[in-house]
Parts: sequence; C-alpha cells; structure tokens
Amino acid sequence: MRIILLGAPGTGKGTQAKLIAENYNISKISTGDILRENIQKKNIIGKKINNLLKNGELVPNKIVCNLIGERIQKKDCINGFLLDGFPRTQEQAEYISNLKIKIDYVLELIVPYELILKRICGRRVHTASGRIYNINYNPPKEEGKDDLTQEKLTIREDDKIEIVKKRLETYEENAYLLNQYYSKQKKINYFKIDGKQDIWNIQEKIAMVLKKR
Ligand code: AMP
Repeated sequence: MRIILLGAPGTGKGTQAKLIAENYNISKISTGDILRENIQKKNIIGKKINNLLKNGELVPNKIVCNLIGERIQKKDCINGFLLDGFPRTQEQAEYISNLKIKIDYVLELIVPYELILKRICGRRVHTASGRIYNINYNPPKEEGKDDLTQEKLTIREDDKIEIVKKRLETYEENAYLLNQYYSKQKKINYFKIDGKQDIWNIQEKIAMVLKKR
C-alpha cells in the first residue's frame, strides 16, 4: 500500500505516519527527517538547506524530489510506503505522479489554526530516534526526557512561534493547489480527516478509511 499523508505542520502527521507505517508494515518516509539528517551530516545539501529550514521556508523542489526519488527505490519500500511531508507543492505532486508509481491513498489531516499553534508550542522531540512528545497531550513519563533512552528532549528550532506562523502561511499557499490537484485524480482515494481529536480517535478514523477499498 502506498499512502501520501498531507497536513499543515502541527496537524499530527508525524505521529499518525509512524502508527500507520507500523500497522500496515510499510516504510515511513518523512522529508523533514531526511532533510534534518542531511543537516546533521553537514554535507553540501545539508549546508544549503539548513538556513531554509531555520527560517521556515521550503527547500527547492528539485532537491526534495531527488531525495525522495532515491529513497523510495530502496528495498524497504517494496511493501509500500507512506510519505509524510511530501508533496508540499504541486510540482512535487507532479513529480511523484510522473514516476508512475501507483499511490493508493492521499489522506489530509485538517486541524484549526489556533489548535495547531498550541500543539506545536508543546512539541518536544528526541532527536536521535525522531520520537515526538507533546507536553499537553502526550507527555513523556519523566519531564524533558525520552521514555526509552532517558536522553534530553529538545524543541525544534523551527517550532518557535514566529517561524511556525511562517511555515503555516507557506503551507496554506500550496495546500489549495494540492487539494485541487488530488481532487481531480480519479484513480487516487483522497480523504480529509478531522485531526482535532486525540491520537487514537484519529487512528481509528484512518483505519476505517483504509478499509474502504
Ligand atoms: P516537517 O518536519 O515536515 O515539518 O518539515 C520541516 C521543514 O523541512 C519544512 O518547514 C521545510 O522547510 C522542509 N521540508 C519538509 N518537507 C518538504 C518538502 N516536501 N518540500 C520542501 N521543503 C520541505
């Protein structure tokens, strides 16, 4: 099964992506994670994209498409994959469709603006594993520490309020076009999911949608 998960920053995409990937035994591919890994490696692409991420701007389509194109050819994608954070622009959506890989579902998480801000401001991450917590909704067992390793949790630099607002603006600018694009694709099942509820309710809704094949 191949799934694209759309949604603004803070809609819970990362959390749901992880659960869907586990439940359906497919690989979760997050462009945000791939980009952050490249920044850590301090390679040429990493240096280029570091400033863009810090400022809440999108990385150029060509770079992101190349990274995704390489990633989905890896062995672990044979069973299928879930794309989290890709596509974010119409060009990226066209890139995926030109690869002639059948996408079964496009799911879009919808959450009101104010709730998104609240969620993002409470987000804490364990950088090494990508595990995500939220001090309001899904706190770690011990404050500020990862449940499994007890290592320190951090706040992503681009989760600061001004940067978040910019990321949301950028998302909105492109969301309309993506929405139009996928609404017109007859062979793709495109579903909007209300992302306001808790993690498990949203999971249930997604499971129902994925069973409707
Ligand atoms: P995320 O972890 O999905 O919130 O992504 C973090 C940041 O990575 C975004 O704010 C963008 O700067 C960059 N990014 C992630 N995915 C994409 C994409 N598909 N196209 C362009 N930039 C991206």
